[in-house]
Amino acid sequence: MSSFENLRYLEYSSRILHMRVGVYLRQSLDRTGEGLAVSRQREDCVKLCDQRGWTPVFYEDNDTSATKGVRPAYQNLLEDAEKGVIKGVVVWDLDRLHRRPIELEHFMELADRKRLSLATVTGDVDLSTDNGRLFARIKGAVAKAEVERKSARQKRAARQAAEAGHGWGGRRAFGYDPDDLPLEPEASLLRGAYKKVLSGISLHAIAAEWNRNGINTTAGKKWTGSTVRQVLINPRNAGWRSYRGEIVADATWEPITTEDTWRAVASLLNTPGRRAGTNARKRLLTGILICGRCEHPMRSGVSHTSNDPIYVCKNCHRNSRRLDPVDGLVIKLVKGFLSSPLADALLVNPNQGNLEELRNEEAGLIGRLKQLGVDYAEGLLNGREVKTARERLETRLSDIREQLINTNDQVFEGLIRTDFKWDSLHLDRQRSVIRKLFVPTLLPAGRGRPFQPDHLSIRWLPKEH
Ligand SMILES: [Zn+2]
Repeated sequence: MSSFENLRYLEYSSRILHMRVGVYLRQSLDRTGEGLAVSRQREDCVKLCDQRGWTPVFYEDNDTSATKGVRPAYQNLLEDAEKGVIKGVVVWDLDRLHRRPIELEHFMELADRKRLSLATVTGDVDLSTDNGRLFARIKGAVAKAEVERKSARQKRAARQAAEAGHGWGGRRAFGYDPDDLPLEPEASLLRGAYKKVLSGISLHAIAAEWNRNGINTTAGKKWTGSTVRQVLINPRNAGWRSYRGEIVADATWEPITTEDTWRAVASLLNTPGRRAGTNARKRLLTGILICGRCEHPMRSGVSHTSNDPIYVCKNCHRNSRRLDPVDGLVIKLVKGFLSSPLADALLVNPNQGNLEELRNEEAGLIGRLKQLGVDYAEGLLNGREVKTARERLETRLSDIREQLINTNDQVFEGLIRTDFKWDSLHLDRQRSVIRKLFVPTLLPAGRGRPFQPDHLSIRWLPKEH
């Protein structure tokens, strides 16, 4: 090393060695006890500073202020970083630092400009590289999805309590009598219609046939393709209860069709091209990308001026963007996520059982549950024995059903943490993968503005359970 280099090195190492870094501490909002106490965060962060020879300066926000979205210590930390008082930030885990993705973006901009070092106890994130930033974004977004999932879970619990009473209120559903028992001939007609749709027969033809045979809707009206569609995509026919279009629970009634058939038909009938009755070419994000102005799914089209393919909102007509860069960023996010260690934790189910075995066991359990009633009626079991046996069987049944849902979810098979070729996946599979991971929203931008990554807002979806 030349003396000049030597000098630079010394200067560098002393700068690094005695560098003042901000240690940011925040109580977790999680009150279930999984949260990490501030004292433990502090201890771990100090240890990390010691290892690096850094001098810690502490910034601590308490629980209450963070809940309200006010974080005075965090603001101080940003100001000190801006002024150069601290040269780096140490935090237990990235999700301590950011509650919302926009905060992360702001922080990354600052870190970049001020060349801040960032270290986390759970592993370093290098925000100076594309991958590091991507990882931080994903991590932030996933943390946000977790928070949303918790709140969704609470809402769901409330909703289920409200729905604890039997039935749906209002008009009976086609295919079921008012006591939720399958009603003939409607149930058989539905079963037939599922098969027909899968074999390519149009909804219009099914409506016409039902009308010809004098079958009416439960409101006493004639069928149209659209009302047939509505009936077919109702998850109750597969034995699920839905609430505002979202499947919330297994229902107590007998399904008319199987989960697989229902899923296949629902996904076919939800295909935007089919619904709109057009032959518009399906693109990666057609019907998946949401318009940030009016919240309608966007379609694809061609720019009048440049002839380039675009995503365009055909509802408000005030939002469009060239297709390629939008697709490019979405693909990058999907690939980044699937290759990150997070994907393992979030998507892989360690006890993937055999679908067939699970189905058989499910059928067996349902049979045994029914048999209990018969045994009771015949006096072979008393009330208490029936109750005990029923509880045991129902617990097992709910385990099995959960496993079935997880096992069924094979969209990600072969994609997680492997070097797969995105382009080799069929477009439908690519779209399914995206649909399961997040909801992309295209935010409005000035007319003619080229696409920027921050025009795309990503809402990561929680794992389906
Ligand atoms: Zn719109």
